[in-house]
Amino acid sequence: MKLSNYRPDLPPRTWEFIRGLRGGTALFTMPAGPIKCAGAPQKIAYLAADWWRSQGVLDRTRVILVLPTAVMFSQPDWAKVLEGVAAGYGIEVRKESQLTEVDGEGKRAVISDTKAGAKETIEYDILHATPPQSAPDWLKATPLADPASPFGYARVDKHTLQSPDWPTVFALGDASNLPTSKTGAAARKQASVLVTNLLAAMNGRPLTARYDGYTSCPLVTSRNRMLLAEFDYDLKRTPSFPFINTLKPRYDMWLLKRYGLPALYWHLMLKGRA
Ligand SMILES: Cc1cc2nc3c(=O)[nH]c(=O)nc-3n(C[C@H](O)[C@H](O)[C@H](O)COP(=O)(O)OP(=O)(O)OC[C@H]3O[C@@H](n4cnc5c(N)ncnc54)[C@H](O)[C@@H]3O)c2cc1C
Repeated sequence: MKLSNYRPDLPPRTWEFIRGLRGGTALFTMPAGPIKCAGAPQKIAYLAADWWRSQGVLDRTRVILVLPTAVMFSQPDWAKVLEGVAAGYGIEVRKESQLTEVDGEGKRAVISDTKAGAKETIEYDILHATPPQSAPDWLKATPLADPASPFGYARVDKHTLQSPDWPTVFALGDASNLPTSKTGAAARKQASVLVTNLLAAMNGRPLTARYDGYTSCPLVTSRNRMLLAEFDYDLKRTPSFPFINTLKPRYDMWLLKRYGLPALYWHLMLKGRA
């Protein structure tokens, strides 16, 4: 079965098929290029493996995680922790590899190792695929799109969020080409910088607010544990909770994800209060 949590109607089916698996091969893939929430393609692998372990199914299941990168995660401290998480579930991680062909009827997928130039056909029982992503076509077709990138995101200064070509244009969030992870957490920090600088530009004042690249990825590692990865453009850790060790999967961070972040989103972010 082919699944993807990247289509809004499909997560319930992902859960249905994870619950229904009694053993076999489960393949989870991440494409090359910038994608929304780069942690999401591996979070679902951990959640699934945790469930299969709780049901006694993991021992009968070969779990393969295909990543386009040479590392598990862009920030090296969390990359190391995630190596341990994947190993703890016995997940086979294929780095510098990509899903290049799928035969849905035959339940076969071709994984190409981009470094070695080799291809392997894998027969799967479940495939959770993350699709390659780019800017919307209308944006790609405009001169706002970054000419140096094939993905078509809007080119803006990485600190002021102002277009280098049109001083009245600013961009933030997933549609921008900011060199940070595309997350709601990043957009939250970008919003106040953009508003401050936009008002300054409208009033003929210098742009003083600067975005430092802050992004955050709540890496759920099991049904009740989470790693909160927070870092900036320099991959320097920027913890919101400096008094706790966020390099360890934690129950309190899972509570934050389950209850705190939805409240932050609905009651504060959307109302412009955070
Ligand atoms: C599976 C998954 C898991 C994720 N997990 C996390 C997480 O745990 N934490 C986190 O911080 N982030 C997470 N993200 C990322 C987060 O959802 C995005 O980074 C965030 O939504 C970006 O907000 P945005 O407003 O920039 O873009 P979007 O949320 O994509 O909003 C853009 C909107 O513009 C609309 N639009 C497009 N074209 C037009 C047009 N021509 N006219 C009018 N409207 C238009 C679109 O329909 C859309 O509603 C996740 C994303 C996915 C897919």
